[in-house]
Amino acid sequence: MAQETKVDTNMDLYLLVGQSNMAGRGKIDSNELKVQQNILMLDKNNNWVPAQDPMHFDKPSAGVGPGISFAQAMLEGKKKTTIGLIPCAWGGSPIKVWQPGAKYFNNFPYDEAIARAKVAMQKGQLKGILWHQGESDNDAGRSKVYLQKLQELIANFRKDLNAPNLPFIAGEIGRFNKENFINPIVNQLPEEVANTAVVSSEGLTDRGDHLHFNTASARELGKRYAEAMKKLLKDTSKPTSSKNKTGLSKNRKKVVLTFDDAEISHYNDVAPLLKKYGFDATFFVCEFPTRNPDEKKEYMNWAQIQELHKKGFEIGNHSGHHKNLTKLTPEKIKEEIEYIDAKCKEFGIPKPVSFAYPGNRYDTISQRILKESGYQFARAGGAKLYEEGVDSKLAIPSFTVISSEKYEKRTLEALKNLNDEQVLVLTFHGVPDILDPDYSTSVDFFKEILQFLKENKCQVVAMKDL
Ligand SMILES: [Zn+2]
Repeated sequence: MAQETKVDTNMDLYLLVGQSNMAGRGKIDSNELKVQQNILMLDKNNNWVPAQDPMHFDKPSAGVGPGISFAQAMLEGKKKTTIGLIPCAWGGSPIKVWQPGAKYFNNFPYDEAIARAKVAMQKGQLKGILWHQGESDNDAGRSKVYLQKLQELIANFRKDLNAPNLPFIAGEIGRFNKENFINPIVNQLPEEVANTAVVSSEGLTDRGDHLHFNTASARELGKRYAEAMKKLLKDTSKPTSSKNKTGLSKNRKKVVLTFDDAEISHYNDVAPLLKKYGFDATFFVCEFPTRNPDEKKEYMNWAQIQELHKKGFEIGNHSGHHKNLTKLTPEKIKEEIEYIDAKCKEFGIPKPVSFAYPGNRYDTISQRILKESGYQFARAGGAKLYEEGVDSKLAIPSFTVISSEKYEKRTLEALKNLNDEQVLVLTFHGVPDILDPDYSTSVDFFKEILQFLKENKCQVVAMKDL
């Protein structure tokens, strides 16, 4: 019988993801024979064993990577800590296979990483993610979309692992690569996404193939990851980020962006811009009866709505067919609510917990039925700030945003006057609105709002996270 590994139930866990240089391609040497009891790894069969290179099992060529030297450096001066490493890198994998549902040969890199991380989390706390990838995207075309894909990847990991501020560290690819498209892009990450860092590959050398770090350089890279990780962990534990009961930092202004009516601009323009800024949002969807087939193109179809969900956005219920709920019987109200619940179920979208009243019209009957149907939040209008614990969660006030002089001024004033105790909820229709120009927000004004939120370090959350 194999010797059983004593597993601490309070390990510091780190997820190792990316491609071959994270998996390790350095030649195994005698250093690997020393086993440290306080560094474990989750093996191929999800068992905890003492960490030893090759930690990865992606290819027979797996060798020395940055994982163990990273863990050793993290343990310096910490005698009582045990580190659990979760190796999940796949040699050769481009960033596009690192998303939910994406397949790479016979594996699903992202989904498997999430599943293994969740197994690991039964034995400790996930402290951070180490990412080393980019060689497979290191060309003129792929590098252009790399930053956006990386932001999506981080948002997905943080969401699926239920850790909104999880430290994420990317590494530069070796400077010995013959092309250099990726490193300048990767280095933009800390500017774009909070709690991220990039480690340099300066001075590191290859195995002779202009692609893989040699053993000594892989170990040096691991130490650099540790240095960056210690710094991020220190930053995130500062008292300035005091958490309230929802886990959100309290002393930052909180804003909720909501988008109504499933207009096509939400899919085409709004979602990519939100991703660029790393902001969360809630899309309140409904179906409108269409008079001609052309009109259909002006709304998102359910496959597009499903994609917004996969990108990490909240899908909320705006009723089946946008009827005035205060004019319906309780049975009809229920039908209208359940119509969207059923559609979400059909498309693998979680049952919504947030609702937006069509035309912002509601009464106590619709509130009661929403509550009975499992809804936690319901948005109305009113152009007022929302006060948590004061206003009802089933009548959350919001400001409608429209590109007219009067409404632009009102929106900017609300943003500027926001304090830490209140929440500003903004309601948008089309950006721009091709169906109803009276409700249109221009892309320029939308960008101005996003820029304001970024510069003022506002917390931009989905309604479900209130
Ligand atoms: Zn509406």
